[in-house]
This record gives sequence, C-alpha cells and structure tokens, in this order.
Amino acid sequence: MNEIVNVVRQLFLGKRVIEEKVKYLAISILICSVHLVYMIVFYMLRVKPMFMYNIGAAVFYMIISVLIALEKKQPIIYILTFVEIMFHSVLATVMVGWNCGFMLYTISMIPLAFYVCYTIPYIKRGPKIPTIVTVVVFASYFYAMIRTNNESPILDVTFTEKDALYLYYFNTFLTFAYIWTISTLFTLEVTYMQRTLESENTDLEKLANFDPLTKLMNRRSLNNHLKEALENAMSTGEVFSLIMTDIDDFKAVNDTYGHEAGDEILVNISRILINNVRETDYVCRWGGEEMLLLIKAEKDVACHVAERIREDVEKTRVTVNGHNIGVTMTLGVSSYKPGDNIRSMVQKADICLYEGKNSGKNKVVKN
Ligand code: GH3
Ligand code: MG
Ligand code: MG
Repeated sequence: MNEIVNVVRQLFLGKRVIEEKVKYLAISILICSVHLVYMIVFYMLRVKPMFMYNIGAAVFYMIISVLIALEKKQPIIYILTFVEIMFHSVLATVMVGWNCGFMLYTISMIPLAFYVCYTIPYIKRGPKIPTIVTVVVFASYFYAMIRTNNESPILDVTFTEKDALYLYYFNTFLTFAYIWTISTLFTLEVTYMQRTLESENTDLEKLANFDPLTKLMNRRSLNNHLKEALENAMSTGEVFSLIMTDIDDFKAVNDTYGHEAGDEILVNISRILINNVRETDYVCRWGGEEMLLLIKAEKDVACHVAERIREDVEKTRVTVNGHNIGVTMTLGVSSYKPGDNIRSMVQKADICLYEGKNSGKNKVVKN
C-alpha cells in the first residue's frame, strides 16, 4: 500500500512516468468497460442496434488490449481507437438524438491527439496530426448537429426525456473525466521530460568538465581557472602556484598488478590530493597519471602542500585483488612571477618534475 502511495506521489511530482504499455492497456480496458456499460444501458433502454454495436466495440477493445499486451506498438492501434470513438459518437447521436450528449466525447479527441503525438516516440511530433484530428472532430460534430437538427433520430426510441437527461449527465461526466485525465497525464509527462533533460544536461556538463574515473576536473575545465588566476595575479599581484604530479614507475604497477589496480591507485591518489588542498584550490587530471594542482598561494606554501601530499602517498597502501600496493610520487612546483603565462608556468613545473624523476624520484622539486 505504502509503495502504491509512493508511486502515485512520484507520478504527481513528475518524477516518474507510467510505462507506455501499462498506460495504454489501462486506457483500452477502460474504454472496453465503458462500452460494456453502454451495452447494458442500451439493453435496458431497448435500443437494439446500439446494444449490438457495443458488444462489437467491447470485443474490439479486448483484441486491442491483447495486441497492446503483446507489445504490438503500432500507430494503427491509436488510429483505430480514434475512428471507433468518433464512429460511436456520431452513430449514437444520429440513432438516439443529440440530447443524449454522445457528441461530447469527440471533443476529448483533440487533447488526446496532442498527448499521443507529443509523448509517443514513434509517432511524428508536431501540430499536423492534432490539426487533422481537430478538423475531423469539427466536421463530424457539425455533421451530427445539422443532421439531428434537420431530421429526427433514425431509431424510434422509446425511452423518456429523463432517461436522455441521465445519459447526458453520464456522457458529460465521462467526457470531463477523460479530458482531465489526458491533460494531467500530458502535464506530468512533460514535467518528467523536463526533469530528465535537466539531469541529462547536468550529466553532460559533468562529462565535459570532469574525469569519469577520478572525478577530478579535466584539463579543459582547469584552463578557465588558470586564466582567471593569471589575470588576477597580473592585476592585483596575488601570487599563485602550480604543482605538477606524476606517479613513480606507474607503468610497472600496471604491468605487475593489472590496469584495474592502476585505476584504483589513481582514484586513491586523487582523494589524497583533494584532502590536502583548500576549497579555493583546484585539482585536475592533466593527462594519464599526471595531475596539476592550482594553489592560491606563494611558493613556500605550495611546496609545503606538495611535501604533505608526497608523504601521504608514500604512507598509503591500496589493497586490490589481495595485493597490498604502495606507490610514490614526484612533484614539481612553480610559482607566478611577473611576465609568466600559463604555458611558461606549466613548463617550469614540468621541468622540476623531470628533475625530480632524474634525481631519484619520490621528491618535491621547486623552481
Ligand atoms: P616514471 O616514474 O618515470 O613516471 O615512470 P612511469 O612508469 O610512471 O612512466 P610514465 O609516467 O610515462 O607512465 C605512464 C603510465 O601511466 C603508463 C600508463 O599505462 C599509465 N596510465 C596512464 N593513465 C592511466 C589510467 O587511466 N589508468 C591506468 N591504470 N594507468 C594509466
Ligand atoms: Mg607520466
Ligand atoms: Mg609516472
């Protein structure tokens, strides 16, 4: 029960949609039930042709329900349903008269056309189909109105004015309920589509700006912050530093323990980097197993941060597939000096890094 309430709440918040098959199966069964009710009503009112027609219509919707259940996703199902509802309304109107309200149903075909066209992926979107439906509905409505105005009903009905009024009430109620349901479903599905789009946009943004493995920002994304820091340094003199990091003998780790273990180590190192910088600093996966850190501080502070990272990496061991693996890291630090640009600063950090690699690794080198 709680689950049902939860599902309904999520539907109304536009957080989920009813599966197409379930929805149209329910609609088809509902229309079938309505025809069964008419079958009984026309039997009681002794309107034999309409009684017979409704038996046929009920059987027709039983077949449609089976087709939907068998996943026969064919636009023809929707077209047949539309034709049947229109036909039934016009037929009932010319048979028993305008005053029973059967033509009201035809109006609900217009929101239904918009709903079907805009929510079913394999039906062409756009105003063309709803416009055709509107024209057909309008023509049928007008035809039935003129026909019933000029001529009396085909059948010599024996039921009273009161019975006709009750039929009118019933048809009005069903039409309103039908229009409300379709419009509500449409609104909720549009809300759901909007939510899905928004979340896809966020995912795309993440994909464009962040590295999927380490969840660190990527090079493209850091470049914007680097430009900002440089402009700030040039205008206010506020110094910033870069730390270029590279794992020592990482290729050997991959070769010995496998790429999966290498990935695990990369994730773990990213965590260490993030934990050692302030919120105003940035950590980026510059490429492969090289990370670049933008530290909003002068050289001594950046070197201190780099040394802390080096120690943490050296201390930390990662267990992958039963292997307890430890790695070390070499770091190069460069700081802003007047006349520097991003490229020259990255180059300086790189040179320091390779000095560190050539002089024994597992160390911090500053320029
Ligand atoms: P050095 O101490 O000189 O840095 O030696 P190294 O073996 O680490 O050499 P280098 O930095 O050139 O090696 C880069 C290695 O990093 C090679 C590549 O297999 C590995 N690598 C790069 N990106 C990834 C990744 O996303 N996952 C894994 N598992 N390995 C990666
Ligand atoms: Mg490398
Ligand atoms: Mg390396």
